[in-house]
Amino acid sequence: MPAMPLADPAGLRAAVDELRRGRRFLIVTHARPDGDALGSELGLARLLESQGKTVDMVVDGGAPPDLAFLPGAARIGGTPAHARPPYDAVLVVDASGLDRTEGMQAAVPKGARIVNIDHHASNSRFGAVNWVEGESASTGEMIYALAKEAGWPLDRDSAVCLYVAVVTDTGRFMFPSTRPSTHLLAADLLAHGVEPGTIHRAIWGQKTLPELRIHAEAIRAVKTAAGGKIAWTRLTPEMFEQAGIVITEGQDFVAMVKSIKGVEVAMLLRAVEGAVKLSVRTEATCDAVALCARFGGGGHKRAAGATLKMTMEEAEKAAVEAAQAELGP
Ligand code: AMP
Ligand code: MN
Ligand code: MN
Repeated sequence: MPAMPLADPAGLRAAVDELRRGRRFLIVTHARPDGDALGSELGLARLLESQGKTVDMVVDGGAPPDLAFLPGAARIGGTPAHARPPYDAVLVVDASGLDRTEGMQAAVPKGARIVNIDHHASNSRFGAVNWVEGESASTGEMIYALAKEAGWPLDRDSAVCLYVAVVTDTGRFMFPSTRPSTHLLAADLLAHGVEPGTIHRAIWGQKTLPELRIHAEAIRAVKTAAGGKIAWTRLTPEMFEQAGIVITEGQDFVAMVKSIKGVEVAMLLRAVEGAVKLSVRTEATCDAVALCARFGGGGHKRAAGATLKMTMEEAEKAAVEAAQAELGP
């Protein structure tokens, strides 16, 4: 089976070396983890434990409810106090910078040896060991490649975790980052017992009626600029109040906006505590990283985000101006 093309094979070897040598590990990922972050953390933990190693995991607030179905999610500690050093290394997955782990930085012991495993091209290489694959569609794919390199067998649970990582970060195998090797590894994960229908239902088939109604509100609120090439919507505290729920995950919403014919820059502005979370999805005519970097954010060329410490009105104006400036002719 053709393996994933590697941009940084030396990084992979260094990471495997580190994991082979160590006995005790802490794994952390970016705050408000998505499917790739949590799937990679749990999948890697399971692989290490299958080799007789000890692994702790921490995520601010524990595993988010929408990903609690992942095998092992209940074991994740919700505060830095769940870390029980000493560790031979701290493994940071799916985070472009150590600051992206936010509150969980406090779980990382001073002077700890950090192994940085990530697929953001903008990664700041903050580890003692850095394995960065900027062309990889997900960190989950990297963990799969790592298992192959180390010769560590997958089981059903690790396969489920890695499948969730891959299926979410590729937008269900629809983003241009999806490569032949992505489908081949997905096939292998299915061979290990992953049921795609079950996972699909767990991730995308559990919406409540209030949630669906917020989708309807968000569609109603879509605005456009640049002759329909830029489209955006917002999720405001008023909308949350009306629906009686708070939306904490914007991927579905921004994908909805992106699905409008002719849209090259899709944006979601979502009210979070004291700020606005911006999510951007683009076609090749606009670099989403450059757009979000204007606000101190980052991500991938076609999918990036930032947090704007502004009111919703200010954020909307600033984001649309930035999109207009970054959109090519
Ligand atoms: P999102 O729009 O939150 O789904 O994020 C899309 C991509 O952008 C993900 O790869 C994130 O890791 C990245 N990203 C989102 N927010 C930020 C941020 N504030 N700083 C750096 N990268 C971000
Ligand atoms: Mn992520
Ligand atoms: Mn990712």
